[in-house]
Amino acid sequence: MISFLDLKKINQHYETAFQEKLKSVLENGWYILGNEIKAFEGNFAEYTNSKYCIGVGNGLDAITLSLLAYIENGNLQKGDEVIVPANTYIASILGILHAGLVPVLVEPDLETFNIDPNLIEEKITSKTKVILIVHLYGQLADMDAIIEIGLKHNLLIVEDCAQAHGLEFKGSHTRTFSFYPGKNLGALGDGGAVVTNDEKLVATLRKIRNYGSEKKYHNESIGFNSRLDELQAAFLNCKLKNLNEDNEKRRFVANRYLSEIKNDKIILPKCTDIKSHVFHLFVIRSKERDRLQDYLAKNNIETLIHYPVPPHKQKALSDWNNLSFPISEQIHDEVLSLPMSPVLTDDEIDKVVKLVNMY
Ligand SMILES: *Cc1c(COP(=O)(O)O)cnc(C)c1O
Repeated sequence: MISFLDLKKINQHYETAFQEKLKSVLENGWYILGNEIKAFEGNFAEYTNSKYCIGVGNGLDAITLSLLAYIENGNLQKGDEVIVPANTYIASILGILHAGLVPVLVEPDLETFNIDPNLIEEKITSKTKVILIVHLYGQLADMDAIIEIGLKHNLLIVEDCAQAHGLEFKGSHTRTFSFYPGKNLGALGDGGAVVTNDEKLVATLRKIRNYGSEKKYHNESIGFNSRLDELQAAFLNCKLKNLNEDNEKRRFVANRYLSEIKNDKIILPKCTDIKSHVFHLFVIRSKERDRLQDYLAKNNIETLIHYPVPPHKQKALSDWNNLSFPISEQIHDEVLSLPMSPVLTDDEIDKVVKLVNMY
């Protein structure tokens, strides 16, 4: 069986390093907001070319708390509208809702899967204050066009980078990350972070993640408990060193798929810049997606669907169930994610290519 993502194999590579970290945290006896998270925040700020990084509990909180911090700082108000791609993973939308803001869905480009900048301006109203960009599947959205729209309409740009660790970003926007185990930089549990150059934002975030408190038992705002765990930060410090190499291996797999998969029933993803794409996922399209997935499963190749149901069709967002986003719906009907990870072997890649071509 070729698994979609062999997390065990990925993490076993770090077994010795993880054990040393566990030992040092145990010996240190400090488990929340200690030296490891401080070190990780420094390392990840540097890695992402940002002035500040703040570790939080998960990727969803990274989005929610960033938006709430902007509200607390007076940059946004409850009820403001946030542009967001219609085909994103639902967490981007939940973060907007949890912050008391209003998501406004915009269709993606069918070929790149990222938000279509040509469709953004028609959705802008006097209440629009933010564009929440998602670099879906690890590919940079069309940032030149988006930055231009942001400047023209005086909008804040925030980037959901949960699938984009290691991407070369454009501009100096606030960016949110998830370290969910399956992400390109994944912990052994939940984790998240916000990186930003906004000093005021980071000061507010530092409080919000910790009960609204900077000084123990003195609470300045209605905060949360959402801190990146010390032990997870320790593990992430080990894995961050290999992130570029891991992404290089993902690109190698993707390049083989792109050059060797040849089948009229399959549409390969459009990659605008293969050198910078971090291939969190390798997503093909097919009119016969479900049959193709069954065929591959029968031949011992595990694939997944990212995602089977668009956000506007989810029960949780029932007000939107009658809305129509035909491009998103088509994407959700047609996409299939092939095995993708830094630990796929040449032999496994050979098998996937051969079986996909034989379909
Ligand atoms: C994974 C993911 C999130 C949420 O991250 P969690 O750590 O699971 O909360 C948000 N946005 C996108 C695009 C994601 O892929």
